[in-house]
Amino acid sequence: MNKRMSDIARQAGIVGAGGAGFPTHVKLDARVETVILNGAECEPLMSVDQNIMLRDADLLAGMLEKVRLDLGAGEAIIGIKAKHEEVIAAMQEAIKTYASLYIAPLGDFYPAGDEVVLVYETTGKLIPHSSIPLEIGVVVMNVETLWNLAQAEAGRPLTHKWVTVSGAVASPGTFWVPLGVSVRQMIDLAGGAVIADYAVIDGGPMMGRMLADLEHPVTKTTKGLLVLPRHNPVIGVQSQPLTTILRQARAMCCQCRLCTDLCPRNLLGYGINPNQTILAASYGGAQGDKALQSLLCSECGACDLYACPMGLSPRRVNQLLKAEVTKTGIKNPFVGKTAQPDAMRPYRRIPTKRLIRRLNLKGYAAFAPFYPTELQPDKVVLPLKQHIGSPAEAVVKAGEAVAMGQLVAEIPRGKLGSRIFASIAGRVSECSQERIVIERANS
Ligand code: SF4
Ligand code: SF4
Repeated sequence: MNKRMSDIARQAGIVGAGGAGFPTHVKLDARVETVILNGAECEPLMSVDQNIMLRDADLLAGMLEKVRLDLGAGEAIIGIKAKHEEVIAAMQEAIKTYASLYIAPLGDFYPAGDEVVLVYETTGKLIPHSSIPLEIGVVVMNVETLWNLAQAEAGRPLTHKWVTVSGAVASPGTFWVPLGVSVRQMIDLAGGAVIADYAVIDGGPMMGRMLADLEHPVTKTTKGLLVLPRHNPVIGVQSQPLTTILRQARAMCCQCRLCTDLCPRNLLGYGINPNQTILAASYGGAQGDKALQSLLCSECGACDLYACPMGLSPRRVNQLLKAEVTKTGIKNPFVGKTAQPDAMRPYRRIPTKRLIRRLNLKGYAAFAPFYPTELQPDKVVLPLKQHIGSPAEAVVKAGEAVAMGQLVAEIPRGKLGSRIFASIAGRVSECSQERIVIERANS
């Protein structure tokens, strides 16, 4: 290999496209036994990874082999839900000449794509408590991230994003658009909203977050935009004030334990019992063992959006406890401890179909096909923090002309971060510590 994949990812500003935006170059700066390509796409209504695998299976297979060799891994496993037969067939055909790549068909449950769950389902290995896959010799990459890496290898830095627009829109679809276009423009691309009173979720219904306004830009981590009626339960959980959540938890939790019995992390043996963290928040606060369990919560939402019969939100209670525990400076006592899956796990996984019904999303649950678009935005807004780590530092000034694909912000020296590139050609109309705005020259 001429250039390590880590360098290519760093130069091109690639971050994990399917989650919190961890800089990919850090992940790839390793030697591992196994590379896992995450094609599970377990959030309902998302179709980005399926579209990419259907369109560019050969490109992905070739790139996965390069990553495998670069990281010294003996195997690369592609996790795809067994129900996506067409996608599996396309990938199977693409990998047939690579002896060390193979497909692991996954069950149709939530959250099959959670890194911890995926590693266990595909390798049988469990990542120790509060650790990362690297600890057990594994690197997990999202399908879109690998696709972006292939573009970077061909000399194209990260300037565009694949986004599924779904829910109450006229033509749900998946689009490839310049970073920094507004959510409003994305909804227009999908034919516009078909209801008047709606809210938009950035991401999937389970782990996405409700957006405050439609001018929010598409960033490196925007996977999907979900237009939902305000009365949908997904919106309800997110819009309740924390004081209400806590008051209701104290008054209404009957300690039925359903949240714990169905918690995906508990089922893998990670020792988190959301029914106990609810008690800790109601009566104990951040001190004590039960509150510390919140550190093990992945915030997957299975407890509040699926399990709890009282409509309570152990997830948001855990978020609060986590923040409080972190403030106290108490060390995470679970780091590195091993887990043992619950024998009942195969019977308690959450079937996607049932989840979709529970979330009132049945009317929207269709594949969102890829539609090519000639979207030419007059303006893009590029936040300097679209990733985990320190914000990027601008290397351009207001008034400066920039070309498409030109570097506009660099990783601060010695810090964790990611570079940012101009996604359209134009002139920098704003350059602050938070964002760079580029306007097309003729706009
Ligand atoms: S499922 Fe709801 S009511 Fe039951 S223990 Fe958990 S939070 Fe309490
Ligand atoms: S959000 Fe709820 S179900 Fe998910 S890991 Fe946390 S406690 Fe468990």
